Amino acid sequence: MNKKIVIAIDGPAGAGKTTVAKELAKKMDIPYFSTGSMYRALALKCIQLGLDATNEKDANLIANNTTVGIKYENGKQYVLLDGENVTELLYTDQISAGASQISVHKIIREKMVEIQRHVAQNQSVIMDGRDIGSVVLPMADFKFYLDADVKVRAKRRFDELKSKGNNISFEEVLKDMKERDIRDKSREISPLVICDDAIVIDSTNLSIDGVLNEFFKHIGEKK
Ligand code: C5P
Repeated sequence: MNKKIVIAIDGPAGAGKTTVAKELAKKMDIPYFSTGSMYRALALKCIQLGLDATNEKDANLIANNTTVGIKYENGKQYVLLDGENVTELLYTDQISAGASQISVHKIIREKMVEIQRHVAQNQSVIMDGRDIGSVVLPMADFKFYLDADVKVRAKRRFDELKSKGNNISFEEVLKDMKERDIRDKSREISPLVICDDAIVIDSTNLSIDGVLNEFFKHIGEKK
């Protein structure tokens, strides 16, 4: 693809953003950028240092003494925390909760958004997160909001965690997900919102291919 194209995908956890974004990226041959992974890396550092992600002072300490970088190898995204590849450590329930706690702080968001905008400046990209269409890339060519029923989203996350050998209960996953939804949607800075110009897709009763078809209906139309 020659023309630069920027696609923003927002929505709550478990709606299928990452799966769809990766597939779209493969099919369109453009990079996929998970902004959630950056907040996850910061949450990991917070845990490693025994700091409190809800505490503003601790968040400042992290923001001012951490580098988060993204590198690509064979089309796969790796997250570098202070230069170290931490990608495999980021997808646990503890980190999910920590990411949603640390991401409420202004200084953290400002630093991450700056890096995210820089990535989209000179290249095509598919970026997913919570504030991509509203704050990070308001001029994106396409803004999608991917949603699904919270129980369906929790079941997807539960299956994923179980397949990785985690023996957390469905009820715990559902509770964590509801708490994360509330935190992400009600925080003061850059809450998860549906932009007026976003295309809303509900994946509750759709397969991955079904969701992809919906995306391509729109991308194909305007391309
Ligand atoms: O997308 P993912 O589930 O990996 O994101 C983890 C957490 O990071 C989210 O629950 C949210 O609190 C935070 N986040 C954010 N803004 C983004 C991406 C993620 O606040 N753009």
